[in-house]
Amino acid sequence: MLTADEVKRDLNDICAQTNAHWLCYDDIHTENKDKDCSLYLREMQRIGYSKLMLLYAGNIQLSYGGGLEIRHQEEMHFSAYTMNGNKNNKNRLIVLSGFDTDNDKHTVYHECAHLFQFKYNTFGIRYRDDYTTYLSEVHANTFASMVLLLKANSVLEYKKRRLGRFADGVEKISENMLYYMSLPVELQLMKEIRKNGRLNTLHAFQKKGALDFKKILFYTKDLVEKYAYSEKEFKQIQNNKPPFKHLLLQSKAHAYRLVGKAYWEHEFFKYRKKIKKHTKIEKARIQAKLEKVERLPQKTPHAEIINEICRLDCYQVEMTNEHGVFNSLDALKNNAVPLEVPNSLKENPDKAQEMQKTFDKMREIYQKYKDNEMFQSLFKKLEILEMRDQVWALKEKERAKIKSLPSAQITKEQNSR
Ligand SMILES: [Zn+2]
Repeated sequence: MLTADEVKRDLNDICAQTNAHWLCYDDIHTENKDKDCSLYLREMQRIGYSKLMLLYAGNIQLSYGGGLEIRHQEEMHFSAYTMNGNKNNKNRLIVLSGFDTDNDKHTVYHECAHLFQFKYNTFGIRYRDDYTTYLSEVHANTFASMVLLLKANSVLEYKKRRLGRFADGVEKISENMLYYMSLPVELQLMKEIRKNGRLNTLHAFQKKGALDFKKILFYTKDLVEKYAYSEKEFKQIQNNKPPFKHLLLQSKAHAYRLVGKAYWEHEFFKYRKKIKKHTKIEKARIQAKLEKVERLPQKTPHAEIINEICRLDCYQVEMTNEHGVFNSLDALKNNAVPLEVPNSLKENPDKAQEMQKTFDKMREIYQKYKDNEMFQSLFKKLEILEMRDQVWALKEKERAKIKSLPSAQITKEQNSR
């Protein structure tokens, strides 16, 4: 049984060969929940992405109570991704979901294949179109499968673990699974390994007692070039007119699915357990953030401005995260409606109305306080991503000051108003 430690050793080896670092959602959010974004952002900056770019790309979100939050959608689906350095930056990064299940392990090697693809620019990975996306994803799957096959105890063991899951994607084909349809190539891979003998193959792909990943990469690349669907066949499947070859494969896939079913139920159970744990931690984290958002209790003009500016920032978070509108603060300043409203809002009047309501609340605050000097200086800070934290830190400082006051004094101040 392949252990998580062994997978991590291979991962570090491949990262060293490809100028890459890796991050795992578990480390970012589950184990290291207070340091989440700084770690992620540092890595993103290493590969040449600014905070603003990431915000627009949707990789991060503004978070309630200041700072930034990495997006959770991918995490909840336990998928992973690989990023090539921006422009001339030669560094790379992979973000993984975990190491526990077989699928996690396959995903680790799948993303590793993408690292090599970026390094050697195979299958046009740097500028993918539909068909090269298919080829590079099938190649990544085949690479991962070959690594796991060579590490398994037998081809049969591997078959049980992998093909059931895989056949699923071929039998019940969905649009986003189309690119991962590597069954034809993987079947061929197994055939060749059987023919040459698994141990002989293992021997041939080893260097100094460890797997030679680069050799595996180019060997599987040849397999993909020989056995993947042609562009014409791929388009036919995409347009729901599959060639006979594919229909044949679908019926085969059905049988594989049955073989792997029991095994997959077991994997699915593990996966469910992980989601449950994750959701619990996530809830606690959001709760901690919300407490930060609470108003300052003291009713001095100073505290009032801080309260209102933080409230404004929370509406800004709602505008970006919920409605996809990024320029609400600009619109306030110019006394205009938000520009660049996304199409999804234009097409949905209910959603558009919700957005308008939030924006009206923002406008109300802005109009009331816009001539106040302190309000204006804090507002300027809200506009710069890097400085939002300072605004919220000010609130924390104010709260600490209030807490340290003797209770008699607080009563006195409240009475004097
Ligand atoms: Zn991929």
